[in-house]
Amino acid sequence: MKGSLKLGKVFGIDVLIHWTFSLLILFIIYKNYRAGHTTIETVWSVVFILSLFVTVFLHELGHSLMAKRFNVKTNSITLLPIGGVASLERIPEKPKEEILVALAGPAVNLALAFITYFFISIPDAQTLLEQLNEGVNSSTFLLNFFIVNIWLSVFNLLPAFPMDGGRVFRALLSFFMPRHRATWIAARLGQLLGIGFIILGISSNPFLAFIGVFIILGAQSENQVVQSGFALKGTKAGDLAMRDYPVLSENDTISKAAEMVLNSQNKVFLILTNSAPSGTLGRDEIILALSQGKQHAAVAEVMNRKLERMDAEEEPDFLSLITKGKESPLILVYRKDKLEGVIDIENVMEYIMIMQAKQNAI
Ligand SMILES: [Zn+2]
Repeated sequence: MKGSLKLGKVFGIDVLIHWTFSLLILFIIYKNYRAGHTTIETVWSVVFILSLFVTVFLHELGHSLMAKRFNVKTNSITLLPIGGVASLERIPEKPKEEILVALAGPAVNLALAFITYFFISIPDAQTLLEQLNEGVNSSTFLLNFFIVNIWLSVFNLLPAFPMDGGRVFRALLSFFMPRHRATWIAARLGQLLGIGFIILGISSNPFLAFIGVFIILGAQSENQVVQSGFALKGTKAGDLAMRDYPVLSENDTISKAAEMVLNSQNKVFLILTNSAPSGTLGRDEIILALSQGKQHAAVAEVMNRKLERMDAEEEPDFLSLITKGKESPLILVYRKDKLEGVIDIENVMEYIMIMQAKQNAI
């Protein structure tokens, strides 16, 4: 995630903290200052927030270690002011595995609450409220820690996909219906709850509103990945490749490239060096070069030299296409070392839309 600082590596997983976390600490200090709290009280509040971030880290580590049991690697764990994100290289598709990975996080919170339980005595409701109103200090620290962990396990288990409970819900639905249908339903329910969090959050807690936004966007993008993956099922790279595509030589000038943009529908061109593919040049790069007065410069000077390739018989999944497309907007498709065509990422999106329209029509 952009703007994150690497704290270290645990079990081979990069642990990152987002810069906005420092805003949270400043916010806590400011709130204490406004309330007229003493320095020691402020220090306790900050220590408490830090302890919550260790908790969030352990929660994410719970997901990661369970995923590891199913041979799924975790690339990184990022700590944000609204919680943590473990980026797994993939989500296990078997419902049972997804349920276990999703439950492992809240289970860590329950375990932490269970351990803390032995070090505190829970007072009656009246005293409890009074103690909680007091804020965090040396005598109420563990009690607050216990309550927050119970709360975190319950909150994460709400069926607000892509939160943990939403993943469990999707996996349970997947026992009875295809995964893409289950994802659609879980994502819609998640977004509905997300809207609820925003409405509730605006009047009570801005963090809840942020979480609501996060859920709505997360549900949207994960649903899209799953639906697109379903639309692409059974499609080979060779089926997606265009046989007819515009090319430029690396010795051509930028003005010639600009002319091609004006005279064709294409936005990306394959660049050849001695008739072999050597890179790509997109419309935006051409416009940028023109604005820098490089109209007589050679294409070679500004082209993108990264090229991705695939085998024509390969069945690409949506995420790998997107990842490759970020490196190079055209993917070369080879059949037995012979260039068969190129995949344009924008065309893939059109292909997916057509396939989805067809599937919806049945
Ligand atoms: Zn979780």
